[in-house]
Amino acid sequence: MSNWKHKHIIDLSSFSAEDYKEVLQLANRFKKLPQAGARKLPALQGRLIATLFFEPSTRTRSSFELAAKKLSADVQSFSPSSSSLTKGETPLDTVMTYVSMGAEVLVIRHSSAGVPAQLAKYLDQKNKKVSILNGGDGLHSHPSQALLDLFTLTNYFGNGQSTPGSLYGKTITIVGDILHSRVARSNLWSLTGCGANVILCGPQSLLPEDFAKFADKPPSGQKEDPIKRRGQITICRSLMEALKNTDALIALRLQKERMSENLISNLDLYHHEYGITHQKLESCTKKIPILHPGPVNRGIELSSELLEDNAICLVNEQVSNGIPIRMALLYLLAATNIN
Ligand code: ASP
Repeated sequence: MSNWKHKHIIDLSSFSAEDYKEVLQLANRFKKLPQAGARKLPALQGRLIATLFFEPSTRTRSSFELAAKKLSADVQSFSPSSSSLTKGETPLDTVMTYVSMGAEVLVIRHSSAGVPAQLAKYLDQKNKKVSILNGGDGLHSHPSQALLDLFTLTNYFGNGQSTPGSLYGKTITIVGDILHSRVARSNLWSLTGCGANVILCGPQSLLPEDFAKFADKPPSGQKEDPIKRRGQITICRSLMEALKNTDALIALRLQKERMSENLISNLDLYHHEYGITHQKLESCTKKIPILHPGPVNRGIELSSELLEDNAICLVNEQVSNGIPIRMALLYLLAATNIN
């Protein structure tokens, strides 16, 4: 029996321990399918899922489309440059077009924070039976990325069986451009929600002090935090210091397209201070898995050698894990049909 209660997935601040458990359990099952010989499940046969990416994407979009196809759904995708947006159509009218065609889940990415939430509110007011799944909005949230990171980490610590409990009490360091990262903002809810402590690491210009209070209270408009006791968030300016106490590390891309001013004056210096290399990892007493949501700036956030070292760098595994996680999310929204 599913306890799923969310009609839309906009961010993870409203996710309970049960929600994480349910998503990971389903993803575990979907991940095992290819080995079992079943290439597709009939679960969403004849249902329409649309991916509306108003901002560029490689991994997220293809992964959602593949996930939908593996559940036998019909998939419609849209790209802004070849759409009626170029003729002045608004995102709302674009969305209504796909709703009128019968789409039941819309995966939406937009460069402005809040667009998926506003669209969800509008569609609810109009009593439309359609779910919005946020594929990344501005600096706000990227829930499916944070859930696939959670799946990758819990698989790693759970030796191939992912449960939220395997993260309890672990310390995860997130290093880099936290300020401009919607991934970090979503990771903070999911990691602390599963009881992990998070060290945020980066220079002042990319990591303001108040991030330490990020998960202290739910965002405005949300009544309460469904998690009783979250892991702690601390800030550490030195990567070498953070590495002493960490069990896993998530590196983030320098998001130059979102920087209104030149916040990093010297990329070599940044790599020297915050870039991850084999040499820096030698100081760790244990093996630390390295994650990165991609796209990676080689030689800046991660050295090329490290990026290609599959023994510790889990970037390719993250991409593979994106499919069962997105299958789980599409399944929960479309098959449980909450309206
Ligand atoms: N792909 C992730 C995102 O869309 C991370 C990044 O772009 O750096 O937010």
